[in-house]
Parts: sequence; structure tokens; C-alpha cells
Amino acid sequence: MPERIEIVTGDITRLAVDAIVNAASSSLLGGGGVDGAIHRAAGPELLAECRTLNGCPTGEARLTKGYRLPARHVIHTVGPVWHGGKQGEPELLRSCYRNCFAIARQQGFSSVAFPAISTGVYRYPLLEACRIAVEEARAALAENPKLKKVYFVAFSDEAQRAYQDAFQEVRS
Ligand code: ADP
Repeated sequence: MPERIEIVTGDITRLAVDAIVNAASSSLLGGGGVDGAIHRAAGPELLAECRTLNGCPTGEARLTKGYRLPARHVIHTVGPVWHGGKQGEPELLRSCYRNCFAIARQQGFSSVAFPAISTGVYRYPLLEACRIAVEEARAALAENPKLKKVYFVAFSDEAQRAYQDAFQEVRS
């Protein structure tokens, strides 16, 4: 595994990084899963800032502060809902990662942590989603020397295995 990419287990809201990524819904007004956890941990000021953003289309990303989180910022991105893979889902998921890395680059962030975007309620197959995540992280790291660390947060044993398998594939 390249040392600038690390798989970690547990709760993304505990990470003290420049930005954690939120797998948000397009309203940016909160929801379940990782989105709910981030809003609970950040406090109501996060929702207040999100309200000013007027939503976010699928595949795009928006930046807010981190408020009560140990992370300084939150990058909210809206992943695609999985409908079988022939409705642009891979391109949209890739676009989520690219837009998050573009914000990280513009802001000069050195550490960013991602949940497995779209793999919960949105049902994107875990291994396929992890492949895209790993490919885009490697591309971003190659062109952004300021970015020192990308964390992939595995919230289950299955997710951890999927990230590890995706790494093996990308490296071989
Ligand atoms: P989506 O709607 O994009 O599928 P979900 O929040 O339902 O978003 O799930 C995205 C991924 O985040 C899932 O793999 C889920 O297991 C994981 N997840 C849920 N809560 C947390 C958390 N607190 N920290 C990290 N990952 C989480």
C-alpha cells in the first residue's frame, strides 16, 4: 500500500484531519448513515451553513467548516444511487472523488478522509466503489504534492476487505 493512502476502521467523525468527506444527499440538509453521524458530531452550526448552499447536484462537492468536529472542514459530496450500473453511476462516483480532491487541492489541504461514498443506503457495490476510490486517490496524490495523507474509513469488516482488495488490484 502506498504510504500516503491508509485504510482506517471506525467512525469518520473522530478523525482530526483537514477535511472529512460527507456522503450527503442532494439537499445537503442531513440524513441517515454517515451524513447523520457527521451532523450530530458537528452540531447545528453545520446544518445552518449547509442551508446557505442551496443543495448540491449528484457528482459535485461543496465545502463547509467542521464546527465541533475534530476535522477542520467537511467536503460534502453527493454520490449516485445504484440502479444497476448503466445509468452513469461509475462516472458520477468518480466525479465525486475528483471534485473532493479538487477542493482539497484548491484549499491546500494535507489530509482528507473519505467514507465509502454511495455504498450504504445508495447500494453501490462495495468493491467496485472502492476501486474507483483507490484509483482517484492515486491520481490525486500523483499530481498534488501538498496532499500528504488520504484516509479511507472502513465502517465494517466487509468494507475493510473491499478496500484491501481494491489496493491489491490497483497495484498489480
Ligand atoms: P450513501 O447514501 O452515500 O450510501 P451512507 O451513509 O448510507 O451513504 O453510507 C456510506 C458509507 O458510510 C457506508 O459504507 C456506511 O457503512 C459508512 N458509514 C456509516 N456511518 C459511518 C461513520 N460514522 N463513519 C464512517 N463511515 C460510515
